[in-house]
Amino acid sequence: MTDIFAKRLSPVMQTMTGFGPRPLYQAVEARDGEALVEGRRVVMTACNDYLGLSGDPRVAVAAAAAVKRYGTSCSGSRLIGGTLPLHEELERRVAAFLGREAAIVTTTGCQANLALTPLFGRGDVVFSDMANHASLVDAVRAGWADSRRYRHCDMRHLERQLAGAGADAAKVIITDGLFSVEGDLCRLPEIADLARRHGSRLVVDGAHDIGLMGAGGRGVAEHFGLMDAVDLYTGTFSKCFGSIGGFVAGPAEVIHFLRYTSRSVIFTASMPPASVAAALAALEITVAEPERRTRAFEVARQVKSGLGALGFDTGASATPIVPVHIGPTELCGRMWQEVLDEGVFTSVVVTPAVPESQALIRLSLQAVHTDDHINRILDAFAAAGRRLGLIPAAPPAVPS
Ligand code: PMP
Repeated sequence: MTDIFAKRLSPVMQTMTGFGPRPLYQAVEARDGEALVEGRRVVMTACNDYLGLSGDPRVAVAAAAAVKRYGTSCSGSRLIGGTLPLHEELERRVAAFLGREAAIVTTTGCQANLALTPLFGRGDVVFSDMANHASLVDAVRAGWADSRRYRHCDMRHLERQLAGAGADAAKVIITDGLFSVEGDLCRLPEIADLARRHGSRLVVDGAHDIGLMGAGGRGVAEHFGLMDAVDLYTGTFSKCFGSIGGFVAGPAEVIHFLRYTSRSVIFTASMPPASVAAALAALEITVAEPERRTRAFEVARQVKSGLGALGFDTGASATPIVPVHIGPTELCGRMWQEVLDEGVFTSVVVTPAVPESQALIRLSLQAVHTDDHINRILDAFAAAGRRLGLIPAAPPAVPS
């Protein structure tokens, strides 16, 4: 007899023990670009609080006021009993911010993506970038449409797939706006052009870029001047907006349809009052304080150029997500620990998310990182990288 637990657990546990459990599920107390890790204060680069709003007192005051007025939970689904006037206000504000007719807010960003499933019916074709977020992958899997996955940002591959799909099939292209591992952008101008030429709808998951990119913080579409080319946006309040929750924004009829058909909306409790109020306050600050975006990009630019000068490979990112390519998973684990010992908490991307030999350390840089934080990050990578022989030794000091 085969035991289902033993059968499923053993391959996964082998992968994890090869790496050591520490970077994963490490408890941290993070705020304002720093974290307390096992009693030590370190620079925090492992959360996606790009604009530093999760520690903003104005956001905290709004959340506390909502708890006082509405309690800690709605204890019900949006459909029945779990909709506050505050949810409706957030939906109006998100729609207005992105210049859409309507929006629906969901309990997490993952659930916003899962809410798309009812759109994917039999005979339809969904085209997805292979590097799309897991929740977009799951949204497509749970539907009935044919799924075609094109190689990451490979526009020729996408074009071939579109051409092969048959003129009559209803089509939709789905892509992350800013990809969360490499920090690169989707090639929206080409994707929008292909969507138009092949009669396809276009959905962009702006989880990482809405709030962060574009002069007004409206994401990659604003960055490329293509707001109107996107049919539906999904996004999250857990990164730039210092809260938790997600949204889908687009034509009123589509949003209305999703309200009554999306299982991830109907069969789960709604965003708690404090999270809705925090998201509303953060949205206002995001619009009013564009300098936060400028600072996050400036921090990233300095870190990236400093790491490059030391001899690290930071890929093609031009955003506050900076990957540092290390190589084998085991070496990446050692580098993570050495960098932490030097006072910087980072995140790792390892197999199965990337091939075994392509593990990387990922830095999320924030508007609240100071010049001192930048220096500490670069010093930590220099010392750790030299100890492990990943970068050349420091040039000898010139005698004065
Ligand atoms: N989409 C993308 C591209 C993401 O990176 C994430 C979060 N990692 C999500 C959606 C899900 O967001 P949330 O954490 O709010 O569920």
